[in-house]
Amino acid sequence: MIEPDSGWTLLSIDDLGSRTGTCERRGCGTDIQYEHLTYHPKRGYMVVGSTCIQHLTKKDRMLSANLIKIYRNVSAFAHQSTWEKGITKKRKPYIYATYNHHKIRIYGQEPYHAFQLHLKNKGERRYTFGEIYQIKNRSTLEAKELAYIALKGVLSTDTEEQDQLRNLYRELITSP
Ligand SMILES: [Zn+2]
Repeated sequence: MIEPDSGWTLLSIDDLGSRTGTCERRGCGTDIQYEHLTYHPKRGYMVVGSTCIQHLTKKDRMLSANLIKIYRNVSAFAHQSTWEKGITKKRKPYIYATYNHHKIRIYGQEPYHAFQLHLKNKGERRYTFGEIYQIKNRSTLEAKELAYIALKGVLSTDTEEQDQLRNLYRELITSP
């Protein structure tokens, strides 16, 4: 049976850290580091590498390329952002990072964190404090990723991108 090239949806990307995965696309079988989990309504699930993901249809590819970009940004932010320590008036410690004029605050420690977004546009004096979101059974790095995804979701004006961010957030928070 010939693998259809259209109709695949990219569900998630998993960084294995090294090339320990295998591309499942027929005739490929390459060792891969980034597992792209795709789904086709007639074929079910298939894990492919970053080369074979390019064989998706144009619309799928545009969506996927954007998700890949988001994922890279999330990963880069979690790894490279500078986090400083702070303490609330009630003496609760937290770490925070700045993104544009906004701040991301993370309370707690592994495996229990909570994050809060402090939003401020250029020229504004006061922050708008967001809700506090709990994160269970996650590393601090994952908490940073989730908080960043939430911030990107709040700042995005593109409904398709908001959906992707929401899916990515859900994927990360519900995966074992
Ligand atoms: Zn492949």
